[in-house]
Amino acid sequence: NPKVEVATEAVSDEAVNKPRKERHVASKPAVFVPVHRQADIQEARLRLPILAEEQVIMEAINENPVVVLAGETGSGKTTQVPQFLYEAGYASDGKLIGVTEPRRVAAISMSKRVAEEMNLDSNEVSYLIRFEGNATEKTRIKFMTDGVLLKEIQSDFLLSKYSVIILDEAHERSVYTDILIGLLSRIVPLRNKRGNPLKLIIMSATLRLEDFTDNPRLFKTSPPVLKVESRQFPVTIHFNKRTAVDYVAEAFSKTCKIHTQLPEGGILVFLTGQQEVNCLVRKLRRAFPFHSKKKGTKAAQTLANGDAESEDEGEVELDMQKAIHNARKARRKRQGSEVVLPEINLDSYSVVPGDDTEADLLGNDDDLGDIESDEEDQLNLRGLAACQPMWVLPLYSLLPSDKQAQVFEPPPEGSRLCVVATNVAETSLTIPNVKYVVDSGRMKTRMYDKVTGVSAFTVTWCSKAAANQRAGRAGRMGPGHCYRLYSSAVFNDQFEQFSVPEIQRKPVDDLLLQMKAMDIDKVVNFPFPSAPDLIQLRSAERRLVLLGALEEPKKKDDWTSKVTPLGYAISAFPVAPRFGKMLALSHQQGLLPYTVCMVAALSVQEVLLEVPIHGVEEEAENAGQKRAQWIQTRRKWAGMGNSLLLGDPMVLLRAVGASEFAGRRGQLLQFCMDNGLRHKAITEIRKLRVQLTNEVNLNLPDLNLCVDPNMAPPTDIQAKLLRQIMLAGMPDQVAHKVADNEIKEDEDKAKWKHAYRCAEMEDPVFMHSASVLRKKSPEWVVYQEVFETSKLYMRGVTAIEPEWLPTYAPALCNLSPPLVEPPPRYDEATGKMLCHVTGTFGMCYCVFICFPR
Ligand code: ADP
Ligand code: MG
Repeated sequence: NPKVEVATEAVSDEAVNKPRKERHVASKPAVFVPVHRQADIQEARLRLPILAEEQVIMEAINENPVVVLAGETGSGKTTQVPQFLYEAGYASDGKLIGVTEPRRVAAISMSKRVAEEMNLDSNEVSYLIRFEGNATEKTRIKFMTDGVLLKEIQSDFLLSKYSVIILDEAHERSVYTDILIGLLSRIVPLRNKRGNPLKLIIMSATLRLEDFTDNPRLFKTSPPVLKVESRQFPVTIHFNKRTAVDYVAEAFSKTCKIHTQLPEGGILVFLTGQQEVNCLVRKLRRAFPFHSKKKGTKAAQTLANGDAESEDEGEVELDMQKAIHNARKARRKRQGSEVVLPEINLDSYSVVPGDDTEADLLGNDDDLGDIESDEEDQLNLRGLAACQPMWVLPLYSLLPSDKQAQVFEPPPEGSRLCVVATNVAETSLTIPNVKYVVDSGRMKTRMYDKVTGVSAFTVTWCSKAAANQRAGRAGRMGPGHCYRLYSSAVFNDQFEQFSVPEIQRKPVDDLLLQMKAMDIDKVVNFPFPSAPDLIQLRSAERRLVLLGALEEPKKKDDWTSKVTPLGYAISAFPVAPRFGKMLALSHQQGLLPYTVCMVAALSVQEVLLEVPIHGVEEEAENAGQKRAQWIQTRRKWAGMGNSLLLGDPMVLLRAVGASEFAGRRGQLLQFCMDNGLRHKAITEIRKLRVQLTNEVNLNLPDLNLCVDPNMAPPTDIQAKLLRQIMLAGMPDQVAHKVADNEIKEDEDKAKWKHAYRCAEMEDPVFMHSASVLRKKSPEWVVYQEVFETSKLYMRGVTAIEPEWLPTYAPALCNLSPPLVEPPPRYDEATGKMLCHVTGTFGMCYCVFICFPR
């Protein structure tokens, strides 16, 4: 490519001729690399506010090692800044422009969008996420998840392939982005010193920038902050008089009112999770069906949602597909000749005076002013709906990516777009043509107990900042409206200003080990934008010591404990430390293929579905039947004997094996639907299996491990060893069934019925009904996690034997008294001498531990 060659020369010439001191300024490549964009793309770009700032932004980047770039969502940061850099020559000279995203969805869809805008191939503008990617040698702009870049730093601390790193969506405050900011604050000066400068651009929505800028531990001199003034039309905010408790019902009624009474414009609804989203999508589709051709419409919506299940509708689907395609084409044409609205740049949001009234929005129609959404009203609304169909799409992060991409497409002719989303739509994806936002004000977060690591999904209020982000989505195409399903009093009194950064909410085991393996000894002194607290770090350190990944700290307030050889082996695997240990330990008895598969399956969330989610259209009775079928299959997969004792991981092993087999015959999707497996999860497990297998082969090339498409279920002996490996990986997650005489005097008998006692937690935990070991209810178990709903439930349960404890979890065993109480006796079953010792394991009461002699 001649263009790039010219660029190379120009850069190196300049670098040679400049005096040393100015080298970092000289990092600005003195070339312009032309990009040939299509006319319509160019036209759309010119409408983005960031285009007017190109020169200012590029000058700031050329002259400063670190720049903070803030701008409203949709102003063009993610799609345009990489292009500015490319044109300015930052991707010439064989260097890369790296862009990190906290969400995988964003990494994929943004790389596709930028490639399209630049008319470049996907191996030049590429993406790389944990399980997949299309990056090649030719890649010049690389979108990746922040975790991927962190792994790259482990093998190349100076990131020498890159000329620029853009940390996008920094306001989301994901753990990895936070660490990357800390690391890059050190890497940038190092690269500068070596005369091979690296630029860092921190991109963020306009909130809470001080954590990055006014933070002397991070940057000695505050980096310049550039703000992109964006074309934000005023958004009128309407608070509810009363705060809705059943916010899904309330969202339904509000969306119906908007659709039936207000002028055209897309609706974006914010709920908290996938189930809620699917529920509302279903309700809305029922209330506002496409009347022209009912069956076809169902097929089209089904198509849109990826749940095309019934074969008899296949033809109709094809028809509809064509119709949709034509409609889109026609619409694009019209849009091309549309007059661009004049720019209005009013101060972002206005609140309607006397903000507790909704009359101004919904006309003064008192009858409809306060609809409660019971069934009867839904029927009324169905009548009202005769006018216009609604194109309803779900959006959440577990939705397959091609289905996610549909929100960018215009809806079929004559219909109104309504996207029902989780907070994915808050900042990372900009949905076009939204005029109305309906905001539940809630979000679902996984909360962890700082010490025990017990987690629970809780629905909480989102922050004020997030609520304002959501409202802002309505002001992209013209003046918009945001309907908040809560009162202004609740907003003012109960919403926090900002949400707590992830690093202060999650267990940091993984992070601590990774950082220590990178020779960052004193993690407490690391320049985090917001540091995790000491309790969190201490308990992570303790768990890593128990795993044998870190040495025992020498003194009480010593933070410099070193990584053990086992710890280094563990940190090489791109999975949680416990799983890394399982892999590191299974180099015997042909166990590795099973451990790899098991770890891959355990690392991916929600593999086994609890209720059908594929069919938004699914009727409730059907769902019940289907679920019963799935449960039966899972029992079958669990097997008997040692195989059953391996428990829930065994089900996963068999599920993955069977899917692999179905996949070879091109029947994966159907197989997943029939057996209640999440298709996306299964494909991720597959990719992770390949990746882990490669990792193992790198370290142990003689093994020549491969992903076996016909992996037989483990033998009885293998299943037993796998149970021991589960224990080795989770020595602190052991629980013991509580017998009646083991309930302590001060404890509530009823509370401890059928309960298990954990090694390290005071409260009783229970076997979840979804576990295949529930009936068997073994005396000793290890669990993958405890989560909290009405009670504390164990998930991912495996049975273990108490005599394994001193070997695999010695630190928690307390053998007391050390005397041999009953003398050793001959055990006929094993033909060995056994001695029984009383003791405790963590907090578990009265244990008999048997030592085979
Ligand atoms: P920011 O990063 O500042 O939030 P983006 O660069 O993501 O802004 O978006 C700029 C514009 O590009 C938005 O108007 C958005 O709707 C549009 N856009 C982004 N991705 C796509 C896509 N895949 N298809 C169509 N338009 C898109
Ligand atoms: Mg963006």
